[in-house]
Amino acid sequence: METIFDKIIAGAIPSYKIYEDDFCIVILDINPIRKGHCLVISKKSVDIITKLDSDTLSHIISAVQAVDKRLREKLGADAVNVLVNDGKDAGQEIPHVHFHVVPRFSGDGNMSVKEKYADGEIEKYYNKIKF
Ligand code: 5GP
Repeated sequence: METIFDKIIAGAIPSYKIYEDDFCIVILDINPIRKGHCLVISKKSVDIITKLDSDTLSHIISAVQAVDKRLREKLGADAVNVLVNDGKDAGQEIPHVHFHVVPRFSGDGNMSVKEKYADGEIEKYYNKIKF
């Protein structure tokens, strides 16, 4: 089944893509938990991480680590949430492996209260974070 992330990977749907290699792309989430929230998306189109071979998964985890570092360096994040909803019953909306990498700031409150980008603001985050 083709997912919206397949369309984003193919360039058929636009995204703020901050990084790409043979295994994954990294884009800004359009509905961020916190501004700068990134999605590290597997190019291999499978729904759960057990369907990825270990080399691919370890490469993707290295990308997650690089994004975590980037959010700390470029946004001054004090901490980072790294999350995977690994299957529908775990709250996964898009059945295509992706890691959420969310910058967190001291005292920024409950993560169930999401943020919204103002007009033009996502471009500023894109320009700050992109590799
Ligand atoms: P899940 O619940 O599957 O773990 O997370 C899916 C994420 O994809 C959500 O955080 C949602 O905001 C994000 N998302 C859904 N559609 C799009 C889209 O078209 N573009 C981008 N950049 N993010 C999307």
